[in-house]
Amino acid sequence: MSTFTAFNPRTGDAAGPAFAEATAADIASAASRAASAFEQWRRVPARDRAKALRAIGNALIDARDQIIATVDLEAALGDTRINGELARTVAQLHGFADLLDQGAYVEAIIDSANPAATPPRPELRRVLQPLGPVAVFTPSNFPLAYGVIGGDTAGALAAGCSVLVKGHPSQPATSELFARIARAELAKTAGGADVLQLVHGRTPETGRGVVNAPEIQAVGFTGSVAAGRALFNVASARPEPIPFYGELGSLNPLFISPGALAERSADIATGLAASIAMGAGQFCTKPGLIFVPDSDAGREFAHTLASKLDAAPIGVLLNENIRHLLANRMQATMLVQGATCATDRDWPADAGFRAAPTLFVTDATTFAESSELREEHFGPISILVLSEPDQMKVIATELGGHLTGTIHAAADETAWAGALADALAQHVGRVIWNGFPTGVAVVPAMQHGGPYPSSTSSLHSAVGTTSIRRFLRPVAFQNMPEALLPAELQSSNPLGIERLVNGVRSASAL
Ligand code: NAP
Repeated sequence: MSTFTAFNPRTGDAAGPAFAEATAADIASAASRAASAFEQWRRVPARDRAKALRAIGNALIDARDQIIATVDLEAALGDTRINGELARTVAQLHGFADLLDQGAYVEAIIDSANPAATPPRPELRRVLQPLGPVAVFTPSNFPLAYGVIGGDTAGALAAGCSVLVKGHPSQPATSELFARIARAELAKTAGGADVLQLVHGRTPETGRGVVNAPEIQAVGFTGSVAAGRALFNVASARPEPIPFYGELGSLNPLFISPGALAERSADIATGLAASIAMGAGQFCTKPGLIFVPDSDAGREFAHTLASKLDAAPIGVLLNENIRHLLANRMQATMLVQGATCATDRDWPADAGFRAAPTLFVTDATTFAESSELREEHFGPISILVLSEPDQMKVIATELGGHLTGTIHAAADETAWAGALADALAQHVGRVIWNGFPTGVAVVPAMQHGGPYPSSTSSLHSAVGTTSIRRFLRPVAFQNMPEALLPAELQSSNPLGIERLVNGVRSASAL
């Protein structure tokens, strides 16, 4: 039996006992249980699924002390961050519960028959139904909000899907704890505890086995571009391909105008340094690329930002793999002719996994010629590019897909900023004005997902209640007898939900 151990990021020592890598038989059994449970769970009325989600959220709050101790040992995030992420995780569950109570998420549409039309039109009633068992891959950098009962699992459960989670190998005890809490609450429902399955593993075979399980009908993945792309290919190559919703890496370009520098250069540097160093830079929304005017003010800004990063705390990285990859990236970036390291601190040699916030400064020509500078440096490292403001509009169209794009400009620079915003909106999921990309508000209007490679499907969001749409499939019923229709489509509208009836929104009976 193959086993693996998680490590305490602060010390590098083993964080707990060894966990067994899931075998092919374990994965087959978990997928089969998830498929059986799906047949029960999909029939549980939405308002009862809502009660279960709220109960899981409340159980998480009750387990707060155990959660903080377990997550901190495996992820070294500290009480404040873990409490904040716990609040977000519970809010996500409650948000989906509210959505289920309202019921309109099924997007029910009814178009009456019209025998007089040419050609005559049948009656059609369309509704969204749960896809089936969903596999969820959790990343290491959000042990709660994207963890075993994070956004993907909450959205899938809300949709009426069962879930098979592949836990992150850096945090097996955390995964076990969350699965135990959720399964205890699901056991009280008609779906049963098996609605949520968890397997562990740290080999690519385990991940591939989960995606290849024939019962799995969709995948929610959060992690690196390399792993996400590998698993996307597996999902697409199945005999029966399935949707793969990968939220991957992103450089989150940030553009600063001459007017913004003249108005508030020091404030922007302070906010940017905090955004880069926050969570040791291990956020998918970390501003990894900063474009600044190639002028005295721009060079002064680069100097100020580097000083602030040199004064920021040394971050603890989540695991040895992230540290290893970041160190390799750092070395490769050091070798780029025309890119200079503007920060002064060496990485600490202490035990554990640590990295000092670091800034590289380069020019637009070097940036255009170096693919290394367009790689994600997952950790507290960013690249600052000195370029002409007019060049920035062109660069924005050549960067590929990202989760976010940010503009810092003065109020009277609307022509420049408008053109840049228009270019960015073609390439990112969220355009930010005079702010910073870290800190993702969990509200229905949030868009977390952009063109590839930031996501494998730019059509949906991985954050906010609209993310439920990834796990629902439209089905239309033609001339179906009333008694055989799902409740959401019956003429009497027994659930009282809002529907689109012959082009008019209505919560009334027909
Ligand atoms: P990761 O190394 O990609 O791991 C994610 C999952 O994929 C783990 O379960 C991992 O398990 C598995 N995996 C890795 N390589 C694999 C392969 N070749 N084949 C099959 N499975 C594989 O990511 P992470 O370190 O946890 O998170 C950091 C990355 O996630 C960053 O790049 C960050 O930008 C991204 N991220 C994105 C978002 C977003 O919303 N877009 C949010 C958070 C993080 P094994 O290690 O066992 O293989």
